[in-house]
Amino acid sequence: MTKQPPRQELVFAPLGGVGEIGMNLSIYGIGTEKSRTWLAVDLGVSFASEEQLPGIDLIFPDIKFLLAQQKNIAGLVITHAHEDHYGALLDLWPKLKVPLFMTPFTAAMLEAKGGYEPGAPKIPVTVVQPGSRFDVDLVNMAHSIPESTALIIRTPHGNVLHTGDWKIDRTPVLGTGTDEAKLRALGEEGCLAVIGDSTNAVRDGVSPSETDVATSIEAIIKQAKGRVAVTTFASNVARLRAVAQAAHNANREVVVVGRAMERVVHIARELGLLDGIKAFRPMDAYGYLPTNKVVLLCTGSQGEPRAALARIAEDQHPEVTLSRGDTVIFSARTIPGNEKGVGRIINGLIDQGIEVITDRTHMVHVSGHPRRAEVEELLSWVKPKILIPVHGESLHLSEHAKLGRRVGIKEVVQIRNGDLVRINEGYAGIIDEVPSGRIYKDGYILVDAEARTVADRKRLSFAGCVSVALAITDNGLLAADPELDLIGIPERDRDGLAIEEAVYDAIEDAFEAMPRKKRGDPDAVAEAIRRVVRSTVAQLWGKKPMCHVHVLSV
Ligand SMILES: [Zn+2]
Ligand SMILES: [Zn+2]
Repeated sequence: MTKQPPRQELVFAPLGGVGEIGMNLSIYGIGTEKSRTWLAVDLGVSFASEEQLPGIDLIFPDIKFLLAQQKNIAGLVITHAHEDHYGALLDLWPKLKVPLFMTPFTAAMLEAKGGYEPGAPKIPVTVVQPGSRFDVDLVNMAHSIPESTALIIRTPHGNVLHTGDWKIDRTPVLGTGTDEAKLRALGEEGCLAVIGDSTNAVRDGVSPSETDVATSIEAIIKQAKGRVAVTTFASNVARLRAVAQAAHNANREVVVVGRAMERVVHIARELGLLDGIKAFRPMDAYGYLPTNKVVLLCTGSQGEPRAALARIAEDQHPEVTLSRGDTVIFSARTIPGNEKGVGRIINGLIDQGIEVITDRTHMVHVSGHPRRAEVEELLSWVKPKILIPVHGESLHLSEHAKLGRRVGIKEVVQIRNGDLVRINEGYAGIIDEVPSGRIYKDGYILVDAEARTVADRKRLSFAGCVSVALAITDNGLLAADPELDLIGIPERDRDGLAIEEAVYDAIEDAFEAMPRKKRGDPDAVAEAIRRVVRSTVAQLWGKKPMCHVHVLSV
């Protein structure tokens, strides 16, 4: 019915970040099915909550596909220095060792991060534009971090716009904002496909500007009587600038607290991103500045227990205190999963008589992602033939897809991690699957998400563990009394019966009840005892613990 697809083609696959927020990793391939050259974009992390994945610090995309294709990877381009786009580099790049490309700010952030983590690898970075068989053009985009870039990827099959994270902010506090002219020019030149940010595709209208936030923060600081502390993401340099400018206009000095904040301020100064902003005061100045002459910029907007704000709120900070009449501004969104930690700090501050201002009541934060009217505007500039929504959960992706269809984009391809998509006008669609998945960082170790360790840990945290040691003789007798250890299990049941004793009796009874011949077989004994222990505890407690039985033949 249709002509055969050309053998040479352009394909795309997300290996992370689609169907979820976090751990972005995308690949573009050109060539034939048998032989493709790949360009990878971003290598981010996700964060696990302690309840979901006990003991897991970070989640990375599984890179087995990239490892298998290592020789065919032309490069890895990082769009910006947010953790969900570059946070896996220190752990995964040493395995990949592919040419790496990013902007100066992103490179400085990566270097600082490496310097901060003990034993971190030295990662060579190219701070220019990549060549190879891909022609990639970086486009400035407004976002909540400096130098967020979209990529125009020019291929023999057409041009693709990979938006990265962006919004349209016509009055950014820092930088030039989204490069409308370049995007319109792409529309003139011809754009085959947009692979676009879906994060705020559920929200109508236009995202407010950083300038709106700056104005609002300045008004709050000018009205405040006591000290003002502002907490935000350290990497949001525009926000740091806005706070510093507001402080200056209110005749206050800025004191920076928190290592991550100090690091970014240092980088931003070096790269000229804080030009025109008066030097900040060292922390030891805090003690003698009058309360109405100081603004604190501090880390801890996500309720992190070891960050500056948490320590200040608990009066545990060696140099910085807040007291009744002071004001704390949360100039950040609370990332889902952090609500409890943030809530604890806010309530603690309020109980001390400190005023807390959040984005729920004041314009003290805006998102860095585009709302629907902005997405529509970008699509009207570049006029793509194909739209592929990425960077979002299912709802965000599907709303983005609907919007694309509504504005007349002929081919909208909805995909999930691991889908390989042919980007070709007239027959764009999923043509294959590539291996994808997750890797956990567990302490120092990278483990497969399928490994049993985390599931075991979850079970342990829910229902504890019973450990049993038995010594049996060849002719099926107990050589000694069973050794029994109950961990994380209540001592007594509802009726006051000692659970350990009940388990002990059940073990002895179960052993006696086994046929004499079977009692000499350590495996059979272990299995029988495991079962009786679990069912006995379940009967008394209502939960089945893990159970380890060690049988020793003596
Ligand atoms: Zn971002
Ligand atoms: Zn992102």
